[in-house]
Amino acid sequence: MKPAREHSIETNLVQLGVGVDERTGAISPPIHLSATYRHPGVGESTGYDYTRSINPTREVLEKGLAELEGGARGLAFASGMAALTTLFLHFSQGDHIVVSEDLYGGTYRVLDQIFANFGMTVTYVDTTNSAAVAAAVKETTKALLVETPGNPLLGIADLAALGQLCSERNLLFAVDNTFLSPVLQRPFEFGADVVIYSATKYLGGHNDLCAGVLVARDEELGERLYFLQNSTGAVLPAFDCWLLLRSLKTLTLRIDRHCQNALVIALWLEQHPKVTDIYYPGLEQHPGHELSRKQASGFGGMLSFRVESDELARSILKRLQLISFAESLGGVESLMTLPAVQTHGDIPEAERQRLGICESLLRLSVGTESVEDIIADLEQALA
Ligand SMILES: *Cc1c(COP(=O)(O)O)cnc(C)c1O
Repeated sequence: MKPAREHSIETNLVQLGVGVDERTGAISPPIHLSATYRHPGVGESTGYDYTRSINPTREVLEKGLAELEGGARGLAFASGMAALTTLFLHFSQGDHIVVSEDLYGGTYRVLDQIFANFGMTVTYVDTTNSAAVAAAVKETTKALLVETPGNPLLGIADLAALGQLCSERNLLFAVDNTFLSPVLQRPFEFGADVVIYSATKYLGGHNDLCAGVLVARDEELGERLYFLQNSTGAVLPAFDCWLLLRSLKTLTLRIDRHCQNALVIALWLEQHPKVTDIYYPGLEQHPGHELSRKQASGFGGMLSFRVESDELARSILKRLQLISFAESLGGVESLMTLPAVQTHGDIPEAERQRLGICESLLRLSVGTESVEDIIADLEQALA
């Protein structure tokens, strides 16, 4: 049934999968585990033949993701890295891409240690500087991949300016929107061609699921990415598709709370005498604050901060009680990591030093616990 009016993203998220099973009227969509499907006759199909190619549970999720993002096609993968790898398979030997230097360490690793072997070249640039991005574009450049906010330093790239550059130079514009989710930032509005998520993070939101997503803005790129997904096979299993569908229903509620908590904690850390720097786009002195207000509807739940010494950073991680010292981010449980050693350990030492990812830098994924409890834990750990 067509709704009387266009529903908001909140409503669409909650309603994902409702009514897809016409036979039973199930509110929660069924999990289809069948690997294969009976054909009515030669040359006939129910629309489903083999689960790598199409699965009814994954189909509900993928359609929902495309709709939420406002794209033509959504694709669900077994991890964020599987999604990114499939996207990189779109390119060929000799192709060059420009990538944010402040980015997820695993993306750097797959480009540097795997795709480099196939003759793909990459230039890493400070994508908060649009002129530097333009200067990095060469004759052979095929795409720009941006993470904004950056990881772990939370720099903000100007999506409108970069979208404009990509359209002028005929580059595929890819945005890894993991840190903000479609609730807060909508890259297609700024000319992105494809949006990437590690759904292990906010979309999954409970630290119990590993998944990745690509959404293509237009049909043609969507078809191409589907071809790559089906050919190489890193699809998300049906049960995990269902878990992700369930998680998405509460995404806006969770994101609201992550944002509220993160701002309170950033303000608290800012005045702490042992904290020397704080990186959160929601703070007015953050260099990307105004830009972030313009292109996103919130600042997210991620922040990083630097403390007086490497020893203090280590002792904080040892003393944490409520907050877990663990990799990953975006779940309801608060997590803290030491990026130089963990998430960004594969970035060469000299490069990390240049970027400022040293061992006194801590990254906090602010959870949805009571903000007073999170602060109390930080207070005792910093004491
Ligand atoms: C975690 C992460 C990835 C990789 O996703 P996995 O689900 O861990 O494979 C990619 N990009 C960003 C920004 C991430 O935080």
